[in-house]
Amino acid sequence: MWRSDNDRVSCIACDASVPREDAREYDKHGDRWDREGKRFEYLCKPCFRDLSKHSRDGLEAALEDAGAGRVDDVEFVERFLEAAHEDPPGRE
Ligand SMILES: [Zn+2]
Repeated sequence: MWRSDNDRVSCIACDASVPREDAREYDKHGDRWDREGKRFEYLCKPCFRDLSKHSRDGLEAALEDAGAGRVDDVEFVERFLEAAHEDPPGRE
């Protein structure tokens, strides 16, 4: 392990340059333990927090995006199902 002041990484979400030790590793494959031959991506802390919050509140965000409380029920359900179909929540 080596350290350098120039050891900075770019946040994949907001493009901020942050010290690597302050960045959170983000592995799009969801497997942080298999490091062999992999290049990790990085998130700065604020974006990492946002990401965590979004996945926890994903349903609410999806409801909000679908226009909850702003459109009538039929349109809301249609939008919600369409959004859920195109962009399923992080379950596998
Ligand atoms: Zn960021």
